[in-house]
Amino acid sequence: MRIHRIPVPTPFYVGDVNAYLLEGPPLTLVDTGPLTDEAWAALEGGIRSAGFPVDAVGRLVLTHPHHDHSGLARRVRRAAGCPVYAHPVDHDRLLDRPGEWNAIAGFLGETCRRAGAPGWAAEAVLAGLEVLSGYTEPLDAVQPLDEGAVVAVDATRLRVLHTPGHARGALCFWEPDTGTLLSGDTLLPTISSNAILEPGRHGRFRERTLVAYLATLERLRSLAPRRLLPGHGEVLDGGEDLDRLVAGRLAFHRARADEIMGLVRAGARTPWEISQHLFPDPDPAFLFLVVSEVVGHLDLLADRGAVAFGGQDGPWIVAPAGGV
Ligand SMILES: [Zn+2]
Ligand SMILES: [Zn+2]
Repeated sequence: MRIHRIPVPTPFYVGDVNAYLLEGPPLTLVDTGPLTDEAWAALEGGIRSAGFPVDAVGRLVLTHPHHDHSGLARRVRRAAGCPVYAHPVDHDRLLDRPGEWNAIAGFLGETCRRAGAPGWAAEAVLAGLEVLSGYTEPLDAVQPLDEGAVVAVDATRLRVLHTPGHARGALCFWEPDTGTLLSGDTLLPTISSNAILEPGRHGRFRERTLVAYLATLERLRSLAPRRLLPGHGEVLDGGEDLDRLVAGRLAFHRARADEIMGLVRAGARTPWEISQHLFPDPDPAFLFLVVSEVVGHLDLLADRGAVAFGGQDGPWIVAPAGGV
C-alpha cells in the first residue's frame, strides 16, 4: 500500500493539517482539511499529484470530527460519491452540525461558569466556536467505524483503534507488520494534543478527557510503533524516537499536575484561578483549551487522592484533599 501525505492549509494557529491518500483498492482518503477553497485546492491537487482524480476516491475515513480534519468531508463525498466513516459517537455532530454546535455552545458556557471563569471569557469562547462553525458543513450520511474493525486497503489491513482523549470519538489506524500508526491529533510530533473537554454520555455532564487521553497514550506506547503518520507535522520514523515522544508527553502531564498541585496548596480554589497562574495572558482563541488543561489535571489529581474537586451544579471547588 503506497501512502501519500497531503499537507492542507488551514487558517488556524496549528498550520497545515495532513490528509493521507492510501492507494487501494479502494482508494482511501484519511481526513480532509477545513472547508475553505484553499484547502480544497490543496487536497484536490495532492490527490491529482498522486495520480488520481478526486472522484476516484472510494472511501473517506475521519480520524475525528474537528473542523480542520473533517470540514471538506461533504465536498469530497459530493465529488466522489464515496462513503464516509467515523466513530459512531461523533455521527450526530457530523450529520447535524447546527444542532451539535448549539449543544456544544451550551456545554462550553456551562463549563466556563463552573470553572469560575468571568463572563467575558465565556463570551470569547462562544465567539471562537461561532467562527469555527464556518469551517464545516453537515454530512448527509456517515458509516460507523469502531475499535476492532479492519480497514482493508489493497493487501494491507489497518486495524481501527478507538483512542479517546483529544476527541471522544478519536480513531487511530494501526498496521502492525510495519509498525505504522496513523494518529490523527492523538499523537503529534511537535505539539502536545489538548484533551479538550466534551459533553458527557450516559447522563454525565462531561467526559474525563485527560484521564482517557493518558490511558490512550499508554496504549499507543505499548504497541511500540515505528512510523508515525500524524494529523499535523512531518512523518516520524524510528521506534526509539517515537517511544521518547510518548514518554515526553506523559512526563509533561505529570509535571503539569505537580505544578497545579502546588497552586492548589498555595490557595488557588477554582480552575480559572489556577489557569490565571499558568497562562496569565492567554489568546482568547485558546481560552477553552486552557480551561480543559486545568480541569483535566484536576481530574488526575482527584483520582490520585491529592485534591478534592467537584460540586454538583454550582461552580467547581478545588481544595487539597483532607481539608481547605
Ligand atoms: Zn483535533
Ligand atoms: Zn487537528
